[in-house]
Amino acid sequence: MQNLSFEKIKELNDQYIQNTYGRLPLAFSHGKGAYIYSTDGREFLDFLAGISVTNLGHAHPEITRSIREQAEKLLHCSNIYHIENQSVLAELIAQKSLGGKSFFANSGAEANEAAIKLARYYGNHLKAGKNKIISLHNSFHGRTIASLTMTGQPKYRQGYEPLPGNFVYVHENDESELEAEADESTCAIVLEIIQGESGVHPMTESFVKKARELCDKHDALLIIDEIQTGMGRTGKWFAYQHYDVTPDIITLAKALANGIPIGAMHAGDKVKDVLVPKSHGSTFGGNPFATAVAITVFQEMEKGVVDAVEAKGEQFRKGLKDLQQKFSFITEVRGKGLMVGLGMDQVAQKAYQACISEQLLLGAIGEEALRFLPPLIIESREIELALEKLAKAFATI
Ligand SMILES: *Cc1c(COP(=O)(O)O)cnc(C)c1O
Repeated sequence: MQNLSFEKIKELNDQYIQNTYGRLPLAFSHGKGAYIYSTDGREFLDFLAGISVTNLGHAHPEITRSIREQAEKLLHCSNIYHIENQSVLAELIAQKSLGGKSFFANSGAEANEAAIKLARYYGNHLKAGKNKIISLHNSFHGRTIASLTMTGQPKYRQGYEPLPGNFVYVHENDESELEAEADESTCAIVLEIIQGESGVHPMTESFVKKARELCDKHDALLIIDEIQTGMGRTGKWFAYQHYDVTPDIITLAKALANGIPIGAMHAGDKVKDVLVPKSHGSTFGGNPFATAVAITVFQEMEKGVVDAVEAKGEQFRKGLKDLQQKFSFITEVRGKGLMVGLGMDQVAQKAYQACISEQLLLGAIGEEALRFLPPLIIESREIELALEKLAKAFATI
């Protein structure tokens, strides 16, 4: 491995990497559990987990073992053949969710692309022109041309026109707007149960139920993007399971293999056989390596990790509510399980920088919110430590 100074890393970045990210002046060399270490030797408490990817923490011994063992056997073979790990992983996903069939890809955007394709394929085969996809104004679904078109926030779309047609947006939790937009030309309604990228905004149960009802009425598919909310993040395996609603499709990625790239689109009974040979595919999707690691993630999550999320989230949110009493710029504590947002009265960026100075990693959304996605293996004393760091950071504002 290299051992470059931060200045050298940044110099190479500035010269050779396209400038698509607003990066912090930080680089990391290694991690352990909930801690990650910068190249200049500082220890950070990681309350972002690579945006809900390393849910089992850094350098988890069982994940490392799984990576090593599979790397020694077989990294890749084509989907021309059967792939044992892919078959086993698909069963695990089915058992924890809709009991249907999965398509494997390599990222969240690709998982959503697969869902869009399935929905269009389904609608267009039912009836000419049945291809309208309804999503939400503040949603985030990825950066490919179709998934960014499905993303409601205009900042992700501007400059990339012309975009694919017949994607429309309605406001979060606005049942009458959704009802007015849904019609027989609709092939899918897409939503996140808790919007992550817009600042941790939950949907109401009645809104999600209305979406289900309208999908049933118009023979459209209810697609739930579980890329960020899935894999135990909110205290259940998948966030839709908090509500009495069954989607037709869920999409997964992020934490599915704890940092090894993978995505999945899982379709329930009604549409699990819509896609047929040659209708979709991926070279890397579901390869033996990524799927081996994802199987290990499922095994580890089963050892009480998911079950403990709710209590950990409660401890953290209670601590944040105590901070809200002290700091008047905190407007709201929201979220479920370990997906937590803090409403901030126009001081989010300042607070964010102060937290980084306290060696606490987190997320910020504009000036309005901070967001926390700690690894699910976080311990009680680490939650206390994060709250101490937050109190110190907030005191400087
Ligand atoms: C991260 C994310 C995506 C996109 O995933 P990529 O792997 O970056 O393509 C899509 N939807 C949601 C809800 C996400 O959080």
